[in-house]
Amino acid sequence: MTTEILHAKLKENFGFEKFRPNQEEIINCILSGKDTLAIMPTGGGKSICFQLPALVLPGITIIISPLIALMKDQVDSLKANGIAACFINSSQSSEEQQMHIQNLVDQKVKLVYVAPESLSYLENAFSQITISLIAIDEAHCISAWGHDFRPAYTNLGYLKNRFPSTPILALTATADKATRTDISEQLNLVEPKIFVASFDRKNLSLEVRPALDRVKQIIDFIKDKPNECGIVYCLSRKTTEELSEKLQKTGINAKAYHAGLDSRLRSKTQDEFINDECQVVCATIAFGMGIDKSNVRWVIHYNLPKNIEGYYQEIGRAGRDGLPSETVLFESYGDMIQLQKFASEGLNAEVQLAKLERMKQYADALSCRRKILLSYFGELVTENCGNCDICKNPPAFFDGTIIAQKALSAIMRLQETEALPVIVDFLRGSKNASIYDKGYQNLKTYSVGADISWYDWNQYLIQLINLGYCEIAFHQQNKIKLTPFAKKVLFEGEKVQLTTVQKVSKDKPTIKER
Ligand code: ADP
Ligand code: ZN
Repeated sequence: MTTEILHAKLKENFGFEKFRPNQEEIINCILSGKDTLAIMPTGGGKSICFQLPALVLPGITIIISPLIALMKDQVDSLKANGIAACFINSSQSSEEQQMHIQNLVDQKVKLVYVAPESLSYLENAFSQITISLIAIDEAHCISAWGHDFRPAYTNLGYLKNRFPSTPILALTATADKATRTDISEQLNLVEPKIFVASFDRKNLSLEVRPALDRVKQIIDFIKDKPNECGIVYCLSRKTTEELSEKLQKTGINAKAYHAGLDSRLRSKTQDEFINDECQVVCATIAFGMGIDKSNVRWVIHYNLPKNIEGYYQEIGRAGRDGLPSETVLFESYGDMIQLQKFASEGLNAEVQLAKLERMKQYADALSCRRKILLSYFGELVTENCGNCDICKNPPAFFDGTIIAQKALSAIMRLQETEALPVIVDFLRGSKNASIYDKGYQNLKTYSVGADISWYDWNQYLIQLINLGYCEIAFHQQNKIKLTPFAKKVLFEGEKVQLTTVQKVSKDKPTIKER
């Protein structure tokens, strides 16, 4: 379809003048009948990617969404634009569901939103309707590797078998590279075209602070900006309640929000926050999915998040209007211990522990934090951001080019098949079984770094990961892989700035917690 026609449809049906990045490309991909995986940050404009094709395609578009609470809003806003849409989920009576299904059969509706667990209601109608597109929203919920696994999603792989010639569009705001592959495999997508919109949110400042006296720090932070609202994310329900009480005692208009509270109370708090009647919400991660409030000016993490995906999604709720917004993460040793315990007891313990470790490395990092976040999502950036605490207050750097060359070439010689400890052993010329069993002592680069301590090598490698030259493959036993940036150092003479290794346990106050 020509770009003029698509623009005309966008204007006519949704009132927008132009497409946001990737929207038009994704739409064209779907219209050409291909399976598509679209990764866009929250607020990036995912809905248009299936709503516009739905209007153009001859049959019905099914949208699978886990967010029952949001379906009504989405359908209402489509209807307000004159687009025939409905939703089917367990909140409806069976008469209501039957009526909607009849409307589908009678071709009175172009889009239908369905919760994954309600798909079976449509089974009988499937033979009587033409399905032109299947959109799967929040597609990361299918992956146990992601951070929000939902069992109801696991069955969705059957859709491709059931409708082999119908394109599937999988959408998510949060998926690292391995999760993307998993989504595509589990949904049985056929050679999907993958679109990744930039995740960079330049208007969000990034800061990590030691958790010393964090309640006082938070109170001071909020009192400093009495007219700006924000969210404090806490790990436990209990903390949300205790913290909101402490804030209230100092005169701050704060409320607690977690999944254990009465649903009426929850929607009341949510409404008050959206309408600027409540300044601060102290919440678990249950708060936020689907909350469309553009002027959240700050997000604080009272506790260390479980992984970078979750963290990035949560801070992404700030500053959706594009105006400068602040984010602060409190790091504490106690949190780390507790999170390690949770992760090791949960599903996919090994992967979750590795992701938690990566989160901690981010918090401890001495290089531009935005670079770390973006490279985590596969975006390589050369420039430091200037809007994180490290950029604003940089540590002392030295020329670490030789160290970087040695480390990256070691990873290359080991053919990207080893995790961090073996790489360090290899660099240091260790004579242990992990080296000798594989004959690594005969490779070039073996023992070129014997002059640097084990601890220091470990830290330098983490810095190289943080700088985006190499990465951890979480789903392949944490093997260290090179990124396309490594080649610049290995073959093109790029200089690398490293920082002197700090003995974390001595210098960092993060170990102590109050
Ligand atoms: P997501 O699902 O990716 O979080 P939405 O689809 O809800 O994002 O879109 C976020 C906001 O951006 C909505 O208010 C939507 O109306 C708006 N939007 C989407 N596409 C465009 C566009 N091309 N031009 C202007 N606004 C847009
Ligand atoms: Zn920075």
